[in-house]
Amino acid sequence: MMNLRDIWKARAVIKRELPPTPLMHSSELSALTGVPVYLKLEQLQPSGSFKLRGATHMIASLTEAQKEKGVVTFSTGNHGFAVARAAAAHGIRAVICVAETVTRAKIEALQQSGAELRIEGKSQDEAGKISAELVRKEGLTLIPPFDDPFIIAGQGTIGLELLEELPDISAVIAGLSGGGLLSGLGLAMKETDPSIQVHGVTISKSAAMQVSLKAGHPVEVEETPTLADSLLGGIGLDNQYTMAMIEHYTDIRCAVSEEAIARAMAFLYKKHRLIVEGGAAVGVSALLEKIIRPDGPTVIVITGNSIDPAVHYETVTPYL
Ligand SMILES: *Cc1c(COP(=O)(O)O)cnc(C)c1O
Repeated sequence: MMNLRDIWKARAVIKRELPPTPLMHSSELSALTGVPVYLKLEQLQPSGSFKLRGATHMIASLTEAQKEKGVVTFSTGNHGFAVARAAAAHGIRAVICVAETVTRAKIEALQQSGAELRIEGKSQDEAGKISAELVRKEGLTLIPPFDDPFIIAGQGTIGLELLEELPDISAVIAGLSGGGLLSGLGLAMKETDPSIQVHGVTISKSAAMQVSLKAGHPVEVEETPTLADSLLGGIGLDNQYTMAMIEHYTDIRCAVSEEAIARAMAFLYKKHRLIVEGGAAVGVSALLEKIIRPDGPTVIVITGNSIDPAVHYETVTPYL
């Protein structure tokens, strides 16, 4: 079992490399909800998302022997960028296994991140198998995207920053996918004060965590196209940590529609001049749609900014 000390330890490691992100007051969301609402700007992390916290924590904590061999992952999203960046910062080798089906744009972006790409296999699953092979044959260390105590504790450091900056915080809202972020945040907040509300927002379709919790075991869901592509993906059929922690530490778990996500992205652009990806806007959606009605100082974690500018423009224009 993890405890609060794990997150303090993560913070001691991370704070040498990653300064706290800003907490921005939103007068518009405060006026709409009647309570003070703040945005925690994790899209300002150098890799573009909070995932740099978990990746930095795990990579900095490797033994010298492990650092010498390097790390591997098969995420082509924010976790992949975070691993590439954290590995480069520590001067160690990072291999990202990528399926042949991945778009040119993603491959180019990952190449620029300084990681070695291994493009092979027809699916994300096959890319996963190739990374497992690299672990076996070359002794690389796998950096998992969410279901790992180092990753969870790293993401949980957001919670410590919130407690420091806003000690009377009453609720925190963030996007939910594999559950690393909300497991860490939940642990940080609830083990400090169980009355702090922790809410997870996901997409209506392909919500693997929601479906799995309902079934009582990890379930695979079919992936459908969404504006919040960072929230896609399963929770792992052998999930060890996040499923139980999400069940234990979250209060409301809810979903928002594609249109509600687009509207929230437009709101963040229009009112705050923030350009964020769909997965980062779901918390704001839940407030705008009044699915979550906060009754005290509330923080929404703005998780990432990985979106093509042309797609962003197209998405928000109808709602400006
Ligand atoms: C990964 C990610 C999430 C969800 O985090 P989990 O730990 O998988 O639940 C939310 N938003 C963005 C932008 C992400 O990259």
